Amino acid sequence: MNLLGVIGGMSWTSTAEYYRLLNEGAANRLGGLHSARILLHSVDFAEVETMQREGRWDQAGALLADAARGLERAGARALLLATNTMHKVAPAIEEAVEIPLLHIADVTARAIRAAGLTRVGLLGTAFTMQQDFYSGRLAAHGTGTLIPGEAERAEVHRIIYDELCRNVVRPASRDVYRAVMQGLVERGAEGMVLGCTEVTLLVSPADVAVPVFDTTALHVEAALDWMLG
Ligand code: GLU
Repeated sequence: MNLLGVIGGMSWTSTAEYYRLLNEGAANRLGGLHSARILLHSVDFAEVETMQREGRWDQAGALLADAARGLERAGARALLLATNTMHKVAPAIEEAVEIPLLHIADVTARAIRAAGLTRVGLLGTAFTMQQDFYSGRLAAHGTGTLIPGEAERAEVHRIIYDELCRNVVRPASRDVYRAVMQGLVERGAEGMVLGCTEVTLLVSPADVAVPVFDTTALHVEAALDWMLG
């Protein structure tokens, strides 16, 4: 099994989900007591979140590039960055190492294309929903995106940072996400991208009438394909 390097802790609640899914996936695919060969560099999310909020993306990129170099030196043969938002600095990571980064938006776009869809709703942090690094990457694969209106975006973003990243899962917040997703479907979304790795803790396919693209689960499956390929 190829050794996977994971850059996580953004936040730890979704990294715990990655860890569980990677191990369950290895056991399902190989049977018995098999588990995933992983090196994990888990950052202090408070540091990263401050850099995001203050727009210090170069520093965040340098921090994650440093983590990537460490994982490469320790023997990882490919990298997983366990967050959608921080793929904004994917180029800084890719420049720092020789080993490949399994880009979460590419993995997601391939799944959307395989499902035959061309226009999806995108839920995530304000950075992911509003900036080009994510929807532009999906567009390069032929996938159009719809995002919620301003007030709804603010609430979707707030629930991620104030609740899900702190391991708080509230039914009232699930209702908010349900309503936001329903609005996107009414505007023409044929599928829904859970474009934040914590949202899978709150929302399931039963919460919306269209196919759901869970970026955490898709990213894990792509990593397992690579690890066992
Ligand atoms: N894990 C989240 C994501 O997938 C948000 C936390 C972060 O900003 O990294 O975007």
